[in-house]
Amino acid sequence: MIAERHSVCPLDCPDTCSLTVSVEDERIVAIRGSHANPYTAGVLCAKVPAAYPSFVHGERRIRTPLRRTGRRGEARFERISWQEALDTIHRHLTAIIATHGAQAILPLNYAGPHGFLAGGSMDLRFFHRLGASLLDRKPLCGGIRTEAWFGTFGAAPGMRPEQAEHARLIVAWGNNVTWSNLHLMPVINRARKQGAKLVVVDPRRTKIAQQADLHLAVRPGTDVVLAWALAAELERRGALDHAFIARHVAGVEEYMALARRYSVAEAARICGVPEGQVRTLGEWYATLTPAAISVGNGLERNQNGGSGIRAIFALPALAGKFGVPGGGLINGAGYAFPKTPRRLQRPELAPPATRTLNIVDVGAHLLDEGLRPPIKAVFIYNHNPVIVHPDQNRLRRGLLRDDLFVVGADVAMTDSMLYADIVLPAASHFEHADLYAAYGQHWLQRAEPVIPPQGEALPNTEIFRRLAARFGFTGPTFEASDAELIDEAVDPDDVRLGGVRPSRIPTDQALAMTANGEEFTLFGNVFPGTKSGKVELASPYLEQKYGARLPRFLPVTSRYPLALISPASDQRITSTFGGVNGGAPPPLEMHPDDARARGLADGMRVRVWNDLGEVRLPLRVSDAVPRGVVCTLKGAWLHTSDNGQTISALCPAHHADISEGACFNDARVEVAAQDGEGP
Ligand code: SF4
Repeated sequence: MIAERHSVCPLDCPDTCSLTVSVEDERIVAIRGSHANPYTAGVLCAKVPAAYPSFVHGERRIRTPLRRTGRRGEARFERISWQEALDTIHRHLTAIIATHGAQAILPLNYAGPHGFLAGGSMDLRFFHRLGASLLDRKPLCGGIRTEAWFGTFGAAPGMRPEQAEHARLIVAWGNNVTWSNLHLMPVINRARKQGAKLVVVDPRRTKIAQQADLHLAVRPGTDVVLAWALAAELERRGALDHAFIARHVAGVEEYMALARRYSVAEAARICGVPEGQVRTLGEWYATLTPAAISVGNGLERNQNGGSGIRAIFALPALAGKFGVPGGGLINGAGYAFPKTPRRLQRPELAPPATRTLNIVDVGAHLLDEGLRPPIKAVFIYNHNPVIVHPDQNRLRRGLLRDDLFVVGADVAMTDSMLYADIVLPAASHFEHADLYAAYGQHWLQRAEPVIPPQGEALPNTEIFRRLAARFGFTGPTFEASDAELIDEAVDPDDVRLGGVRPSRIPTDQALAMTANGEEFTLFGNVFPGTKSGKVELASPYLEQKYGARLPRFLPVTSRYPLALISPASDQRITSTFGGVNGGAPPPLEMHPDDARARGLADGMRVRVWNDLGEVRLPLRVSDAVPRGVVCTLKGAWLHTSDNGQTISALCPAHHADISEGACFNDARVEVAAQDGEGP
């Protein structure tokens, strides 16, 4: 008999859909959208129903603890018991601590599942108490935008996405809504039915760009120049809101001095867009109110990423677009939730002065002979670093070190798990309870397990509870149940929970995060959380932390002529599902003029290379990308490659202007026909 159960999509996606899961004989047989969350309203992307059942029950599923018997990456393992796995981990880590100290151990985790418990709870308590090196995870993705927001507005929520239906102008800037923020689309459509204009700023002509009233195919990494030029254009048009600025915005003169350096003509030349388009966007932004801007993650992935986002954030402040439903920025959703990460993760357990390593630099650190203490053990979970990290080849060289002890925990046998000495079977999020906030909407949701753990899999919380016990860490902190952890994930006394304990939130409905029942409206019922209480266009916070008081523009210099962008796919969420949805590599899109100049034709297999690596992909000749830009999709696993490298092998590992963030889109490459291919 088929039972229908409530759940939540935990993937790294802003939408966090509520799900109805059909279960038969303890197997997931179907997944569809549910109406528990009014924002996601029964609609899902195509990826989840197609791939999730195979991800949970398929041949790559890890069902028992394993010990590596072959060389790293060779996929030869033998089954061992949980007791043996925990004893082996304990023995190795204890020996490393005795010789090198606990900071020689590095947890290497990211945002595989986004639930509070799976994403960072008992695991971090364990590593903090162990004294392991701390890992700054944010720089890999989202950290730049988060820091740009915090540096400009402080801890304040931005616009709830539903409000954009009141807008007369919506700008989707670096946000491929159709693939990566699906539920914003009906909101945009409702607004457009009432006459709103839609502008898309994106190097690639995405589906939403095709539908837009205006598409600016901006060169990767030049968004800051475009936004500066728009600010100067607003000033020329007399569209700055001086009353709002005087009351609510700090650093305007410093900021405008930078913006005024760029005429529309100069900005158009740098950004690779027609002057007329810049003027049209300037005119629409000056005259249409309410105006909503949605900023995606793509435009942060370059060395000017924080600057670009900050310059976009400045536009509604300068033009006084806040304070009304549909006006301002669809951003900062994380601040709509009463999160209590310190209670959940207990950072005070870490010894004072424990070092923090940037996740972007892990490959470099693994190969750094001067690092003291050296990294002697990594514990990979909730993460597939071999596929996701920039400079893939360097990271893999690091993971191949003979003297490195690698523990992995995952649902499926990923390319990263193949490097582990001990692999632990992790329960999928369908197999344990969790609580879900979102980074793209304002609804809090809870889920119960819909199937029992498969094989001998355990939820991350239980894996680290057992590890803590094995290391002798006892007491309520390390013995807390999942329900108790959920109650520590958000403030149970916060008015937003309306007296409902977090662990009791019904699974068939979502809790709206509001200000005393009213939707958050920046400069309506909520104000910036910066020290000045104003929008800080010149940011003391970012100055103190990164020396970045103001945005800046730094062109990429490279001997390779083509800018490579690698956005999200319509088939995977980052790398999740890369093991279940086929072995074909994604295509490389190239403008017809660039293809012609290289003697390349549609359908040929091409080499794409730079000093960091080489990837072979099928070519798609298309004017959906501008001249000088090539595009492929991130997240493909190694089995899609005939030379053991995927696209992150071409992505540099330098840091962006703020958050020390990853700069995937600063990759510059050359492309030629693969041997044997010819026109
Ligand atoms: S990946 Fe995103 S759109 Fe797709 S089901 Fe999950 S939350 Fe919804």
